[in-house]
Amino acid sequence: MQSTANLLDFDLQGLAAFCDQLGEKRFRATQLFRWIHQRGAADFDQMTDLAKSLRQKLSVHARVEGLRPISQHDSADGTIKWLFDVGDGNAVEAVYIPEDDRGTLCVSSQAGCAVGCRFCSTGHQGFSRNLSTGEIIAQLWYAEHFLRRRAGSDERVISNVVMMGMGEPLQNYANLLPALRTMLDDHGYGLSRRRVTVSTSGVVPMMDRLAQDCPVALAVSLHAPSDVLRDNLVPLNRKYPIDELLEACNRYLEFAPRDFITFEYCMLDGVNDTAEHARQLVELVRRHARGTGVWCKFNLIPFNPFPASGLLRSPSEQVQAFAKVLLDAGIVTTVRKTRGDDIDAACGQLAGDVKDRTRVAERIAQQRSIEIKPVAVLTGNNKEA
Ligand code: SAH
Ligand code: SF4
Repeated sequence: MQSTANLLDFDLQGLAAFCDQLGEKRFRATQLFRWIHQRGAADFDQMTDLAKSLRQKLSVHARVEGLRPISQHDSADGTIKWLFDVGDGNAVEAVYIPEDDRGTLCVSSQAGCAVGCRFCSTGHQGFSRNLSTGEIIAQLWYAEHFLRRRAGSDERVISNVVMMGMGEPLQNYANLLPALRTMLDDHGYGLSRRRVTVSTSGVVPMMDRLAQDCPVALAVSLHAPSDVLRDNLVPLNRKYPIDELLEACNRYLEFAPRDFITFEYCMLDGVNDTAEHARQLVELVRRHARGTGVWCKFNLIPFNPFPASGLLRSPSEQVQAFAKVLLDAGIVTTVRKTRGDDIDAACGQLAGDVKDRTRVAERIAQQRSIEIKPVAVLTGNNKEA
């Protein structure tokens, strides 16, 4: 039997090409796209304004297949974490974070991650596989329509998407791009480019591609002011060192929907969080500034510890002192509020509980060559312990 196409794999242009193959006009693709993404429909029989002949063809050649949620955890602060089955024992997570003026969905791009950052539980899992476009967009499709049903309303609930879940989005570029386009499409989710953020550990060539193809807001996971330190924390730095990365940020700015890049900086006790590190960052940012304007902002992320990392969260006084050095130098700096702590939905806790940890540990042992001395023995506030 010929396999059917999953229509979640297509952006509108892809769907139009698919409809063309079925001998259908472009406006039919638009109608279909709206049924799927705006109304959450998966059943062609529901799409009553499509000709019966088209619905018949679709039922033979196509399907709308989302992801199966394995679990849902609701946090006391309103944050919701879903764990989705992606087959072969792999699962990915999406997290909804409600705030007064927005609803943000944190979306995964890969099962596991090949970059292997020292402080990231996804990185410690190793890489399983890329998510398809359909699997990326299915997280938004599911969450948006779940939340609308729950609210009993047709109003849009999710206003922002951040590609900050599991995986390195720019190492899954071909599948990411149609998913981003569907998020932005007025016939899809209609999100503005400013409200869709790709977060990257610094895949320089793909940052340039993104600037050309779909310049959404960009966040760059910097985490260190020097190559010596960043090489160890973010192994991809050995391929694309800091100077190259910051030059790529500057090139991106010419296309970006915002006039700044956000640098994420995970605060690790005794590793990258001293006043001296902050001063080096100021120097780095100044060295790469073009003109006099603000060109970057810092988002300091309190580290979410997990046992295998051997690292600790910086004390909040240390974070404040670090922020002060940046602020005094005129660099806009915020400290990320930790959300969904009670359900392990905070950044870097997205490893899930379904992986076979023994296998994972073996893979990590094979893949990881870097070593940083543990700064202290982990105790206390570790939820996975
Ligand atoms: N791979 C991309 C996007 C996913 S990670 C990237 O690295 O940017 C999203 C953010 O969470 C990154 O800034 C990452 O550095 C941060 N992060 C990862 N593990 C973390 C942890 N244990 N505590 C706090 N932040 C973490
Ligand atoms: Fe991958 Fe990002 Fe985690 Fe690094 S921080 S291992 S790039 S998901």
